[in-house]
Order: sequence, then structure tokens, then C-alpha cells
Amino acid sequence: MLSYRHSFHAGNHADVLKHTVQSLIIEGLKEKEKPFLYLDTHAGAGRYQLSGEHAERTGEYLEGIARIWQQDDLPELLKPYIGAVRAFNQGSTLRFYPGSPLIARHLLRSDDKLHLTELHSSDFPLLRNEFQKESRARVERADGYQQLKSRLPPPSRRGLILIDPPYELKSDYHAVVSGIHEGYKRFATGVFALWYPVVLRQQVKRMCNELQATGIRRILQIELAVRPDSDQRGMTASGMLVVNPPWRLEQQMKSLLPWLHEKLVPAGIGHTSVSWLVPE
Ligand code: SAM
Repeated sequence: MLSYRHSFHAGNHADVLKHTVQSLIIEGLKEKEKPFLYLDTHAGAGRYQLSGEHAERTGEYLEGIARIWQQDDLPELLKPYIGAVRAFNQGSTLRFYPGSPLIARHLLRSDDKLHLTELHSSDFPLLRNEFQKESRARVERADGYQQLKSRLPPPSRRGLILIDPPYELKSDYHAVVSGIHEGYKRFATGVFALWYPVVLRQQVKRMCNELQATGIRRILQIELAVRPDSDQRGMTASGMLVVNPPWRLEQQMKSLLPWLHEKLVPAGIGHTSVSWLVPE
């Protein structure tokens, strides 16, 4: 039984980090003319209503996207991501938040392709409806990890694979590593972007050690913390591990994270980091 619903968390600081990285990778891939595949293994519902009961109950977006989307000093690098958010919100009221599949749809070109999988019985139909008229997309109610074996390599031999499970099962910390390993064996030139929460630092360390042990090279780690690490319940930070990042991503995130951190978190709290978990 899946109980996680992303509608409670849409637009929070972790989404801001994830979708910033996602949009910069997509923009990086677009620098070459050749089309590519965007594979979203855990796609969610697609669109989230911020005035809805779920988002209102937690109010997480108020400490995330709501703090940045209308800033006058928005960095150039955030424009693709924030452009997608604005496309869903005419005027000055933030009503909807686009999840990763809709951000990708907004940024992809006419000959790029999307492959989206989602398992939840309530979120899958919402996602399917969003993409009903979209000939570039294939949307399936299927296991995301399985796609890393069955859908790679893509015919175009270029692609971004976003892996964004809910981590409601402890086994997800292991499944993401074996999933990336399986995917990489089939498609070693693909860009694999894994999102993770920092709830218990030891869990993240174990996952990173396991990923290092696969022998995969070129893994960039990006983190944004809104609180210090703690062994109490709750997410203090989130991060992205990116295999084969576009060459500019490291510098782009180094220049963006201080701005994001300043807007999202009171001064002196939390941290940001961009470093190679495994270099070239
Ligand atoms: N990627 C989305 C975004 O950024 O907008 C959010 C995804 S949410 C964090 C994780 C989603 O994975 C949930 O909607 C959940 O139902 C779904 N899920 C959980 N296990 C799955 C699996 N094995 N395969 C596919 N989807 C799964």
C-alpha cells in the first residue's frame, strides 16, 4: 500500500532544489541539437493545487517556492524553472505547482520524448489526464525501478533519468542504488539524477557508500539544508546525486545555492554544498 502523496509537500524547499537541478540539466542537454529522453521513474500527480487541502495543511510551499518565485533579483539560471512555475500561475497568486513531469514538458523541445511512471492509484490517473493530448509522452502505471532495466538505453542514446522515490520504505535507499547501477550498465552515458532526503545522516552516508562501491565515476552531490543534521524525526536537508552531470552544472549550482539559501532559510541556519562524491 502506497501512502505517500506528494501533494502535501509540493513546492517545498526540497522541490525547489530538485526542480532547479532538473531544469538546469534539461537546459544543458538542449545545448546539443540531438533529441533526448526524459525518464521520470517516480513521476507523482503532475500538477498540485496549492490552495488545496493537502498543501494548505502542511503549508510547506510557503517556505519554499512562495519565497522565490516573484523575487526581483531572480538569477538568470533560475529562469527556466521559475518560467515553468509562472506558466501555471497567471497573475500574482501562486495557485498551482508543477511537478517534475510538467516542468519537463514545459522545457522539452518538440522532438524530445517523455516516459513517466507512477504507481499510486489516485495520482496515476491525474498524471495520465495531464498528458492525454501529449504525443511526446508515454505515461504508465508501472514500477519506476523496473524502467531502469527495460527502457534503457533510449533509441536516441541521450537522456535524463530522474529518480525521486518517497523513501517511505527503508528499502528505497538500497533500491535507488541498485536501480542506478542497472541503468548505468545499460546506458553509461545517461544523466542519472537521484533526489534524497536527509532525515538520518547515517542512512544517506550508507547510500553514498553503496553508490561509490558500484564503481560508477563522475557523481556530483548537491545539498541544501534548512536545519542542522539531527537524529530527531523530520527532514533537515535534501540533496541530489547526479551521475554524468552536464559540465556546467557544478559551477551553476555553486553560484545559485547561496542565493537560494538566503531566500529560503533564516541567516546562519543550515548549509549548502556542491562536491564530487566520485570524480572523473
Ligand atoms: N517526481 C515528482 C515531482 O518532483 O513532482 C514527485 C514524486 S513523489 C516524491 C514520489 C512518487 O513515487 C509518489 O507519487 C509515489 O506514489 C510514487 N511511487 C512510489 N513507489 C513507486 C514505484 N515503485 N514506482 C513508481 N512510482 C512509485
